[in-house]
Amino acid sequence: MLTRLSLKTKITALVVAIVGLASGFLGQFVVSTLSNLLNDAAGRGTATAAAAIAVSIDPSVLSSDQAVPSLGKIQAQFQEMVDQGSLAGVSIMRVDHQANRVVYIASAGKDYVSENYAPGTSFGLDDPRSTLLHWKQKAGRAVWDFDKAPDRVFIAGWAPIMQGSEQVGLALLFADVTPINNALNTLAIAVIATCVILVLLSGFIAYKLATGFEKTAVTDGLMGIYNHKYFKQRLEEETAKSRRYKQQTALVLLDIDFFKRVNDTYGHATGDIVLKNLAKWVTEGMRNTDVVARYGGEEIAIILPHTSLAGAQEFAERLRIKISHQVVRDPEEKAEFRVTVSVGVAQWEPGMTSMDMIKRADTALYHSKHMGRNRVTIYQDEILPPPESQTAAKD
Ligand code: GH3
Ligand code: MG
Ligand code: MG
Repeated sequence: MLTRLSLKTKITALVVAIVGLASGFLGQFVVSTLSNLLNDAAGRGTATAAAAIAVSIDPSVLSSDQAVPSLGKIQAQFQEMVDQGSLAGVSIMRVDHQANRVVYIASAGKDYVSENYAPGTSFGLDDPRSTLLHWKQKAGRAVWDFDKAPDRVFIAGWAPIMQGSEQVGLALLFADVTPINNALNTLAIAVIATCVILVLLSGFIAYKLATGFEKTAVTDGLMGIYNHKYFKQRLEEETAKSRRYKQQTALVLLDIDFFKRVNDTYGHATGDIVLKNLAKWVTEGMRNTDVVARYGGEEIAIILPHTSLAGAQEFAERLRIKISHQVVRDPEEKAEFRVTVSVGVAQWEPGMTSMDMIKRADTALYHSKHMGRNRVTIYQDEILPPPESQTAAKD
């Protein structure tokens, strides 16, 4: 049975989607904050270590011819540290203010450092690789930044080597933070994926709950078909469509004959079984667009959109015969019996409201009862009995 989603459900779904997206962004924000914190801590550590190296260097050797030999020993120590894995690279460089260059004097490190910053390498201060150094020199204090190799991320810490008030060199320290950054990237993907899964899951649950609630709200608990309230609403809609598009709509009302006797003879529980079965017999083989609802106690209403009066009559007649052939088994008494139904059929005509349709189908149904039950009557003014006899037939 089709359940159309209400505006409330659509809004709920929209809210779930927005909350989900927001949580995705929040997750992403948490990961990037964590990433900044970790990198910042690593950066500060690297810059501090660079400053420690900077003060351990005798500034006078940087400007002398002795620079390379004197730093050779330090370079060997650096290499040892690098080989032990605690460092990615270290460089000591001289800042040549007159030539506007930085010259690498000692460098140790893994391939990236030793290839790009080998001793003897020099960059003009306007070289892109020195631009960074240039302002860092001006900063005159230990700072850090990222240095990215194709598949690796380094944190580079710089510290000035001072001779008096003049900056004569720089100590540069590289820490390889690729594993941290890879882990953070994986974490970001995991967080986003988790959010997406949660959004989809909560959206699905919200949808299921909403359709479940909506179905419960429009369904009759005993018969499992639409309830009276929903029927009235749908009939309004269908008559409105008939008005607008001049389409045919038929209404069938069906009432079990002498149902009180069934209850009296077999008990109320068996009566309930009959009602459940009736709903099943009626809904079997129905079109998707047809609307089957419990109209009252033992009455069912069927809206047949796009159906002529003749078509509805044929349908009703077939249904009446089918029901009369069904056998109901009474579980307690072990009895078997049949029930019959009386049916009234009406069709929408221009100017009619949904209430008019119900009245006509009801009048036709009373006529069926009056004429002896187990029959179908289509609404036609001339064949109807006078109102008094209709009432008499009902009693
Ligand atoms: P007829 O329609 O042929 O004139 O006779 P009837 O005996 O079916 O008519 P009436 O409308 O007087 O009785 C309907 C009975 O349906 C009375 C009521 O107890 C019974 N009924 C209504 N709802 C339920 C229900 O949910 N379960 C059961 N078991 N019986 C119900
Ligand atoms: Mg009845
Ligand atoms: Mg009745």
